[in-house]
Amino acid sequence: MIPVLPTPHLSSRTGAWRMLRPVLEAEKCNGCLVCWLFCPEGSIRRENGSVSIDLDYCKGCGICARECPRRALRMVEEASFMGEGGGKLA
Ligand code: SF4
Ligand code: SF4
Repeated sequence: MIPVLPTPHLSSRTGAWRMLRPVLEAEKCNGCLVCWLFCPEGSIRRENGSVSIDLDYCKGCGICARECPRRALRMVEEASFMGEGGGKLA
């Protein structure tokens, strides 16, 4: 019998403790979906030929930015978004 474990992104919101946030430079993105394939949390969504990031479930690991062949994603200190409230859980 194979144990069935919950998919990480369906069982825990990781956005509350993220230290770095992936930021997409949309003009560089060609929609190749490499980031979508590599994201361990399933927090990258396909969207009209590009991608978007569900920050509630992104843990800030940076794999997406590292794997992006076009350098369209960069990791930014979460503290620099203080006051915006975007993606951080209450
Ligand atoms: S890997 Fe980079 S270029 Fe490809 S879809 Fe993701 S952000 Fe866009
Ligand atoms: S940093 Fe990128 S790869 Fe890591 S969880 Fe967030 S969206 Fe996924």
